[in-house]
Amino acid sequence: MAPVALETPTHINGASTPVSISKKAHAFDPATQHLPDIDPSKLTIKLSHELATVPAPETLTFGTIHTDHMLLLTFSPEAGWSAPSIQPYGPMSIDPMASCIQYATNIFEGMKAYMGADGRPRLFRPDLNMARMKRSADRLALPPFNEQALLELIKKLIMVEKRWIPSAPGCSLYIRPTMFGTRIGFGVTPSTSATLLIILSPSGPYFPGVVRPISLYAESRVRRAWPGGTGGHKLALNYAPTLRPTREASQQGYDQILWLFGEDDHLGEVGQMNAFVVLKRDDGSLDVITPPLDGTILPGVTRHSVLDLTRAHSPENAIPGLPADLVLHVQERYIPIAQLVEYSETGTLAEVFGVGTAAVLVPINRIGYGEEGKEIKIEGGANGFGPIARAVREELMAIQEARRPSIWSVPCDEE
Ligand SMILES: *Cc1c(COP(=O)(O)O)cnc(C)c1O
Repeated sequence: MAPVALETPTHINGASTPVSISKKAHAFDPATQHLPDIDPSKLTIKLSHELATVPAPETLTFGTIHTDHMLLLTFSPEAGWSAPSIQPYGPMSIDPMASCIQYATNIFEGMKAYMGADGRPRLFRPDLNMARMKRSADRLALPPFNEQALLELIKKLIMVEKRWIPSAPGCSLYIRPTMFGTRIGFGVTPSTSATLLIILSPSGPYFPGVVRPISLYAESRVRRAWPGGTGGHKLALNYAPTLRPTREASQQGYDQILWLFGEDDHLGEVGQMNAFVVLKRDDGSLDVITPPLDGTILPGVTRHSVLDLTRAHSPENAIPGLPADLVLHVQERYIPIAQLVEYSETGTLAEVFGVGTAAVLVPINRIGYGEEGKEIKIEGGANGFGPIARAVREELMAIQEARRPSIWSVPCDEE
């Protein structure tokens, strides 16, 4: 297969990599230790004898069922990466002393395959997911891997499981690459062995029913991420501590948490999505703002794409659904929660939304803050969408579903 043109993810990489992490020190590097890397030509495929019935698209929720097969790879310090295997989905046994159970050496990715009207499955900017997964592995001193080889295997698995890709609008096959340390022992040292899995889940819309706006509670007592921490990487250990605060927010009547950080309590993320704020200027132009990648923000593929689309908006290259002469001032900067309240009180605040692979884009209509039940209310149009949210969501989905040709949309059936 032709080498995948890996876009240098400087934009995603840059500020999200804490400077204290040494680039050269890696516990085991196949390049230097001459251990075999992932080799797609060694793939073996063992098909399941009992294939499940694919559910009707309208019954699908998010991330509850799995397909018939999974892709499995293991890494050992003696043999490097094993021959890849596509095999029936099923439980695995694991040593109780394994690194992932004792010390949370677990990383994951989230991406989707979309079925085009031409019957071809496609991925959306998968090179960015592969590069991010490699950085996550490095952050936990898990073994490195060739990301082009892994992407090639993901495409093969998608082709095997093609019948599971729902073609109804808003539906897709969610892909969950997962990797965990399997070294046995209580020593707090890098896991010299690991397992890498790719599992698939046919998915309907993340939030069931018509897309509706969600409400947030702006959390300033508990922090999701901090400078020098791991919030800029997709590590499983970032998510467990968010569960109790999110349940508490839900008991107060809010869907998700708006994570804040710093003395000034500036905006971070919206649950597990990147946050965007749109402000009105007197001259009719708009500010489109998202927090900068300072290590506390997960460098989302969707965030990256929303920035690319809005930055490129111009009379010659207008986002469909937006006036061609509308000027967008796109910025990566901090917004303290007090400033958001002020924007709301002065009528400057136009839109707030969250973006991510699972939900694509979700508008926010209500943000609770402080102790006394104070709230910011944001008015949207139909279903709570402002003009930017609506146009950007539609454009992203048109590209993902290959209704609009784009180099971001990568076919799975091409070598
Ligand atoms: C995965 C994730 C996102 C969204 O990233 P995408 O690549 O757009 O799916 C945002 N925030 C957090 C905390 C995440 O885990």
